Amino acid sequence: MIERLLVTGGAGFLGSHLCDRLVDAGHDVLCVDNFFTGSRRNVAHLLRRSNFELMRHDVTFPLYVEVDRIFNLACPASPVHYQHDPVQTTKTSVHGAINMLGLAKRVKARILQASTSEVYGDPEQHPQTEAYWGRVNPIGLRSCYDEGKRCAETLFFDYHRQHRLDVKVARIFNTYGPRMQPDDGRVVSNFIMQALKGEDITIYGDGRQTRSFCYVDDLIGGLLALMDSPDGLTGPVNLGNPGEFTMLELAEKVLNLVGGRSRIAFHPLPQDDPRQRRPDITLARAELNWAPRVGLDDGLRETVDYFRRTWLDAA
Ligand code: NAD
Ligand code: UDP
Ligand code: UDP
Repeated sequence: MIERLLVTGGAGFLGSHLCDRLVDAGHDVLCVDNFFTGSRRNVAHLLRRSNFELMRHDVTFPLYVEVDRIFNLACPASPVHYQHDPVQTTKTSVHGAINMLGLAKRVKARILQASTSEVYGDPEQHPQTEAYWGRVNPIGLRSCYDEGKRCAETLFFDYHRQHRLDVKVARIFNTYGPRMQPDDGRVVSNFIMQALKGEDITIYGDGRQTRSFCYVDDLIGGLLALMDSPDGLTGPVNLGNPGEFTMLELAEKVLNLVGGRSRIAFHPLPQDDPRQRRPDITLARAELNWAPRVGLDDGLRETVDYFRRTWLDAA
């Protein structure tokens, strides 16, 4: 069945991959973005498709359109970007959620929220299950993002309880792949660009903090499976790759892949940087029959190829 789908943040890294998949599946896709961190370039190839439409709009303002399903992804995701204008970051998560939930309520649409592993903060429980409430600093530099996303989750569940809205909440763990911005400050893009340019690889802190990295294609598969899941399944559902690596291990992998003459340089650890992070994906496996397939080595190879093609050759 052809559906009218709204993707907010659709010109961003994850959003543009999601639009690709939805357009290819034949749905009518409305991509809404204010181009803060996303760009037309990410969706330029979709503009000639008759079932794709791009609208410049900021989700902190009301939006009146008629759609069947909403994927709410609008929000800068890299610490450098979300800390650039922290008030706007919270507004995007909170006012954006209210507007998109209000829209979903009016048109009776199913709505999915791109939440984040950041709701777990600097976690004491490891790996993190959905039942864990998290350990988040409410007044730190990361709070605009973490607390904004936590409040958005609250709104989703209150609209669900109060207005019987059909909601789905995905808690996305660190995801990487083609179309990440080279200068967005995230660790995968930083390390790859630094290695490609022969610059120092910047490790923050001692490099023994861990993250779990999910390849973008896997993640999009998880979002689609959650959106298509039966009515009662609201989540939150963790989506991520349970493989866990230190930043030193990641640097080594990137250096091995790229070669070159980069050296490791240690820099101060940013405030409230989580020590460890790994998803428990038991729920996604059981309820969505979903698990990631692409290992870090293969995914990094694809990503390095993309950065080499797109950004290095162009420079
Ligand atoms: P991104 O920055 O590439 O994409 C976000 C998109 O939202 C951009 O296109 C940006 O221009 C748009 N946007 C920002 N503010 C907006 C506003 N007020 N109105 C309309 N559009 C706005 O980041 P991403 O990695 O693609 O992340 C997409 C979503 O997934 C975000 O909600 C993010 O919090 C979530 N997420 C991502 C990751 C990850 O590792 N990539 C992890 C957890 C959660
Ligand atoms: N809203 C929107 N599009 C719609 C319907 C509502 O953007 O199609 C916004 C509107 O700005 C409103 C918000 O969503 O403030 C929340 O809507 P809701 O119906 O929950 O609350 P109310 O309209 O009573 O404030
Ligand atoms: N990091 C790093 N060097 C960089 C960028 C990031 O060592 O050039 C570290 C950062 O301190 C964090 C991890 O890599 O511990 C992941 O950072 P990222 O900003 O990608 O995501 P998040 O902290 O939101 O998980």
